[in-house]
Amino acid sequence: MTTPRIHLSARVLELTRNLSTIKELESYLHDVLSVAAELTGSESASLLEYDDVAKEFFFNSMLWFQGDAVRSARIPVHGSVAGWVFLHNKPVAIDDVSKDDRHYKKIDELAGFTTKSILGVPVVFREKTVAVLEVFNKPEKYTEDDILLIETLAALVGAALQNDSLEKKILSTQDEARELEELKNEFIAIASHELRTPLGLILGHATFLKELLNEAEFQEQVETIIRNATKLKEIIESLTSVDNYESGSALLKSRKVSVTRIIEDVAISFHEMAKNKDIALKTEIQPGHELLVDIDGGKIAIVLSNLLKNALTFTNKNGKIVIRGEQHVDYVKVTVQDNGIGIPPNDLNRIFDRFYQVESHLTRKHGGMGLGLSVAKVMIEMHGGRIWAESKEGEGSIFSFLLPVRNTQPLPQTPFKT
Ligand code: ADP
Repeated sequence: MTTPRIHLSARVLELTRNLSTIKELESYLHDVLSVAAELTGSESASLLEYDDVAKEFFFNSMLWFQGDAVRSARIPVHGSVAGWVFLHNKPVAIDDVSKDDRHYKKIDELAGFTTKSILGVPVVFREKTVAVLEVFNKPEKYTEDDILLIETLAALVGAALQNDSLEKKILSTQDEARELEELKNEFIAIASHELRTPLGLILGHATFLKELLNEAEFQEQVETIIRNATKLKEIIESLTSVDNYESGSALLKSRKVSVTRIIEDVAISFHEMAKNKDIALKTEIQPGHELLVDIDGGKIAIVLSNLLKNALTFTNKNGKIVIRGEQHVDYVKVTVQDNGIGIPPNDLNRIFDRFYQVESHLTRKHGGMGLGLSVAKVMIEMHGGRIWAESKEGEGSIFSFLLPVRNTQPLPQTPFKT
């Protein structure tokens, strides 16, 4: 029986197309076996997978599956057609198995099937033969075309096995990443909790000492202790505020607050730092706009401080920074614009990740742990708001956040230009 070439190509093409959308490996392999049997005019087909530990074959997939006896059957490497194909790594066609002792006869008894002829080809996966694809009992002899066809289908099986193993690897890597993230969060929560008490004692005692000491020389040393311990305390506070939000335990102390007031206060607190770098720091708010919203003022002040501190850190001498506050119908918008060094496009959507710092900026040796923006993001999202950044390397950056006037109102998509 010969299969029209066009039909043959169409079936193989369909299997090739389906390769990229396999949902269940088992059903795909079953389809391959059906096509293999149909297109060669064989009675049946099966896929024997090699078990590298037991050094024998088992039925991965079969058309003539007739019960558990075959499913759990094992085929030896020596004294089977599959074993011959595996050891020689090439196809074989046997027209009369009764005259060939390579056929493993016991399997026919188990399956209640009489094998008359076999065509077997190796399935290669990562340059190793891992299985054997077989078709059985074609009324006529197996031809060179049949061998070519089954080899093509075996190549598809090899690719399907590869896809499946890659997918499993991706899933297990994702699981590992999730587990690591959980471990990291747990570690941060425990570490910051354990550090807080001794650090509080250091700060308390150092402050006490400072009041007792008269000599300027010692004063300076105690002040260094206090300054650095305070820095550590800030880091721990940053870590816990991110952790708190993620575990959902942060409580907002919201009330009607003037964002205008926060902008002015934060700008004043950075006045000195701006002056030291000869940076012009300006605020722009439409006159008479209080920008009143229901927020936790302390947290929004931290957000703005983190943005402004970054703007001052990453802007060179004689630069310019503007903080703008705008009232919109459904939200208040705040932006911090600088004409500093900017952020490379590849880093732009990662700077809000915890501990992320732009590689090229690290050489600037500024203090910081890559926490400021992640804290800002958490705090803004706690309020149902949005925060994002736009930037051009060498030209500067604009950090913006929106705070909803009413929490029920959906915010516009970001980033967007106003
Ligand atoms: P850090 O405390 O290290 O500044 P952040 O989370 O606040 O951490 O910021 C993450 C990184 O984003 C910074 O290390 C810096 O590389 C980059 N960055 C943040 N703000 C700016 C800015 N205004 N201009 C240029 N780069 C910035």
